[in-house]
Amino acid sequence: MSFLSMSKMVLRKLFSAPVTERYPFVPKVHPVGARGKVNIEIEKCIFCGICQRRCPTTAIIVTKEPKVWEIDRLRCISCNLCVDVCPKKCLALDTQYSPCCVGPQKDSYHA
Ligand code: SF4
Ligand code: SF4
Repeated sequence: MSFLSMSKMVLRKLFSAPVTERYPFVPKVHPVGARGKVNIEIEKCIFCGICQRRCPTTAIIVTKEPKVWEIDRLRCISCNLCVDVCPKKCLALDTQYSPCCVGPQKDSYHA
């Protein structure tokens, strides 16, 4: 690339809008069908453990007694398998991602 064409490109980029998004300062608009984080309606859960057994990344831990459903958000790859296999249809993927974090991010739900 010649010096002249590179200078033109630099000048053009200096006065044009950035191509990147200023996340997290500007909220992300997710496209329809985007896979975000797994949510559970804990009152419908029967603690059968199918989601735990089928999760490919061992992100879910189900404890029958006491009734606790846990998910490690950093392990989850939003594959939707747990949502598909849940017999009570109490799991769903929403379009929101988990907030930024620097360590383990486990969420626990108690019945
Ligand atoms: S598969 Fe559904 S009902 Fe069974 S433990 Fe998981 S969330 Fe609960
Ligand atoms: S979406 Fe996939 S990776 Fe995430 S918890 Fe469910 S089965 Fe596991």
